Amino acid sequence: MPKLKCVCSYVINLSEIPSPNQYLIISDVEMDRYVGEIDIENLYLAMKVVAHCQNCGRLHVFYEGFDKEPVVYKIDS
Ligand SMILES: [Zn+2]
Repeated sequence: MPKLKCVCSYVINLSEIPSPNQYLIISDVEMDRYVGEIDIENLYLAMKVVAHCQNCGRLHVFYEGFDKEPVVYKIDS
C-alpha cells in the first residue's frame, strides 16, 4: 500500500522503505512468542502496520493486514 487517503483528505505516503509515516506495533502477548528470536523478518511480519497522518495526527491501524480496512484513531484532546 504505497499511499493512503486520510479522512482529512491528506494523502499519507507509505512508499518509502523505511517510511517516516509508518509505525509498527505488536501486542505484549504476541511479542512474548518472539523472546530469543533473532530473525527480524519473522518479528516484522508479526507486527501490525500503523500509518500516521502528519496533517491531523490520526492513526490508521491495519490489524488484519492491508486487505482489510484499517481502524482509524483520532486524537481526543
Ligand atoms: Zn489526516
